[in-house]
Amino acid sequence: MPEAPKEPQKATEYDVEEKNKKTLEFIEDVTANADQVQKRVLAEILSRNAHVEYMKRNGLNGHTDRETFKKIIPVITYEDIQPDITRIANGDKSPILCSQPISEFLTSSGTSGGERKLMPTIEEELGRRSLLYSLLMPVMSQFVPGLDKGKGMYFLFIKSEAKTPGGLVARPVLTSYYKSSHFKNRPYDPYTNYTSPNETILCLDSYQSMYSQMLCGLCQNKEVLRVGAVFASGFIRAIRFLEKHWALLCKDIRTGTLNPQITDPSVREAVMKILKPDPKLADFIEAECCRELWQGIITRLWPNTKYVDVIVTGTMSQYIPTLDYYSNGLPLVCTMYASSECYFGVNLNPLCKPSDVSYTLIPTMAYFEFLPVHRNNGGINSISMPKSLNEKEQQELVDLVDVKVGQEYELVVTTYAGLYRYRVGDVLRVAGFKNNAPKFNFICRKNVVLSIDSDKTDEVELQNAVKNAVTHLMPFDAHLIEYTSYADTTTIPGHYVLYWELSINGSTPIPPSVFEDCCLTIEESLNTVYRQNRVCESIGSLEIKIVDAGTFDKLMDYAISLGASINQYKTPRCVKFAPIVELLNSKVISSNFSPKCPKWTPGHKQWNNTN
Ligand code: AMP
Repeated sequence: MPEAPKEPQKATEYDVEEKNKKTLEFIEDVTANADQVQKRVLAEILSRNAHVEYMKRNGLNGHTDRETFKKIIPVITYEDIQPDITRIANGDKSPILCSQPISEFLTSSGTSGGERKLMPTIEEELGRRSLLYSLLMPVMSQFVPGLDKGKGMYFLFIKSEAKTPGGLVARPVLTSYYKSSHFKNRPYDPYTNYTSPNETILCLDSYQSMYSQMLCGLCQNKEVLRVGAVFASGFIRAIRFLEKHWALLCKDIRTGTLNPQITDPSVREAVMKILKPDPKLADFIEAECCRELWQGIITRLWPNTKYVDVIVTGTMSQYIPTLDYYSNGLPLVCTMYASSECYFGVNLNPLCKPSDVSYTLIPTMAYFEFLPVHRNNGGINSISMPKSLNEKEQQELVDLVDVKVGQEYELVVTTYAGLYRYRVGDVLRVAGFKNNAPKFNFICRKNVVLSIDSDKTDEVELQNAVKNAVTHLMPFDAHLIEYTSYADTTTIPGHYVLYWELSINGSTPIPPSVFEDCCLTIEESLNTVYRQNRVCESIGSLEIKIVDAGTFDKLMDYAISLGASINQYKTPRCVKFAPIVELLNSKVISSNFSPKCPKWTPGHKQWNNTN
C-alpha cells in the first residue's frame, strides 16, 4: 500500500517543498492504483475482523475477497446495527463489530429517532483523519503559493460530550480531533499555523472561545493569509459576532487588557501572549467597523487574505451570496468531504467555482461502494425511499473505479472501525476522474428538507412536529389546511419558517400566544441536533407565518404554470425557489416566533448524564 507522507518533527527540519512533493506523489499513487488499494483495504478490514460477532452472524467465514463479501454481507442503514451499537454503548466490550477496542463514539449530525447517530471509532482512525488533513495544504499550495509564510484564521470549536451508560465518550468528530494529541501536539508545520491558540479552540464556552479567537485574529491581522471555519454557517456567525462585539474587542486591543468575561485561565494566559496594547490597530478596526456597510469587511480587516476556506457545497450553498458580500468575492474554497463515519476525500481543484466543486475520494480511507440512484419524478428527497435493499438492488452496487461519469450514487462505506456496507445517506454525482479515482459533486443528503447549520431535518420529523403543534388550534376550531417550510438565511443566524394556511370555524380569534406555543411545540418536537443548535444560537427562533386563505392554491397554479403535472402535484414540504418564497411572503397575515429555546441536554435522552 502506498505509504502516507511522514511528518517531520522540528521547524529546522521542515522542507515545505519536499513535503508538498511527497504528498502530491502520494495522491498520484493512490488514485492511479485506486482499485488495487481498495482491494487491499477491504482485505485488511476483513482479515482483521474475521472473528467479530457481526461477521460470524452473517457467515463470511474468514473470506476477504470482494465477491464473497458482496454476496454475503448486506447493505445496511444505521437502524440495522442500532442493537449492536446499543450493546457497545451499554458496556459490552466483546468484539461485536470490530476486533480493535471501540475508543469512543462519534456523534453524527444525522439522527435516528430524534437522537444523534453513534458511530463507533477506534484509536487508529485519528491517524487516517490526520492523513486526510495533511493532504489539503500541499494541494492548495499548487494554486496559491506562499501560504507557508503566514497564518490561517480559522474559527474552530468544540462541543459538549457525554458518556454512554457503559462509560464510552460520545462527542462530535471534530471535538474528538481537536482534543486529540494529533491536533494539540501537532508537529511544526507552517500550514497548521493558526491565529487561534489551542486553548481558545478547546474552550467549551462558546462566547469565550469565539471572543478570544476573534481577538487573536484581529491582533495578527496582517499575518493572516486565509480565513475560514468548517461550514459556511460557522464563518458567518463569526462575522456576526464581530458586528456585535467589535467595540469591546477594540477596547482590549487599545489597552492590551482582556475582557473580564473571559474567565477561563488557560484561555486568558494564551491570549495574553498575543495581546499587546496597539492603539493604532484599534483605531483602524474601529474605523472599518463603524462604516455603515460591511461589504468586504474580511478583505478590509485582514488585507492579505487570499481565500475563504469553508464548505459551501450541499445545503451550505445558501450562504454563498452572504460570503461573497463580506469577502468582496474572494475565492470560496471547499477543501474536503468528511463525516463521523469516515473521512472521504479532498478537492483537488480548490479554486474552482463552488458549483463545480468535486471531491476525489482517497482510496486508503475505507472501502467504498456506490448504489446507483434512480430518480422518481426528478426527486430524490422523497420520504418513500426504500429502507432496505432487495437482492437485485444489492447487486447494483459498484466499486470506486467502476462508477460512470454523470451518474448519481449513494455512498456506501466499509470502515476500519466496524461499519460494513453502511449507507452514509449522501448522494454524489460523478464529475470525472483523477487517474482511476472518481471525483464527485456533492448533490444532497437524502431526505433532508431543512438545514441551517449542522441540523438535518427530514420530512417525517417536520410532519410529526407540525402534527404535535396543531393540537394548540383545536380549542379554536381551527385546522391546518396546508403547510410548507423555508430555511431563511437572510437573518443571522438563519431560522426555520413555516407557512400555514388555516381554516377557522370558531368565532374566537386565535391570540398570537397560541401561535407562539405552536412554534415552541415544533421546536421541542424536532431532533436533538436542531435543539442543540438553537441553544448554541446557531439557529434563530422558529417562525410560523399565517397566510391568506387560497395561498396554497395559488402556489399550485404557479407550479403548474412552470410545467408541473396537475395530476402529480403535491405541496412541497419545503420551498427554495425565490419566486415561490416571494409569493408566500406576499400572502402573510401574521408572523409568530418561538418565545424561548427548546429544551436540550447533551447525550441521548435515555442516558443519565451529569455534564
Ligand atoms: P457528520 O456525520 O455530522 O460529521 O456529518 C457528515 C455529513 O456532512 C456528510 O455525510 C455530508 O452530508 C455533510 N458534509 C460533509 N462534508 C461536506 C461537504 N464538503 N459538502 C457537503 N456536505 C458535506
